[in-house]
Amino acid sequence: MSSECIFCKIVAGQIPCDKVHETDNVLVFKDISPSAPVHYLLIPKRHIPSLADTTQEDEAVLGELQLVAGHLGRTVPELGRNFRIAASTGPDAGQVVLHLHYHLIGGRKLTWPPG
Ligand code: AMP
Ligand code: ZN
Repeated sequence: MSSECIFCKIVAGQIPCDKVHETDNVLVFKDISPSAPVHYLLIPKRHIPSLADTTQEDEAVLGELQLVAGHLGRTVPELGRNFRIAASTGPDAGQVVLHLHYHLIGGRKLTWPPG
């Protein structure tokens, strides 16, 4: 846990969230400022700043994050197997919260490129 990290505080229950799904290693909650009808954040419970900081040690949780995305894509009716995951990495890519997270968005027609 990083004491200044807002997502670590959510994992620790110190800041509330609208929880969607949880496993031993992964937490999924609704983005507070959604950009689509479905906008979830998928995070490892353990603090990892970004994808640029991952090591071989993180292989299992990175795999689990994508399996959870697939599970939600199949089971959340508004998604209906159509969705996008995105992990902004570094300030130039728009990463604001320095705790690795995948945005999972869907529930509307998505455009590309995201910008
Ligand atoms: P990023 O810009 O990729 O770092 O994404 C950070 C995301 O976290 C943004 O989409 C915010 O709306 C979202 N966010 C920030 N604080 C909270 C919070 N307390 N609960 C839920 N989502 C949050
Ligand atoms: Zn953190």
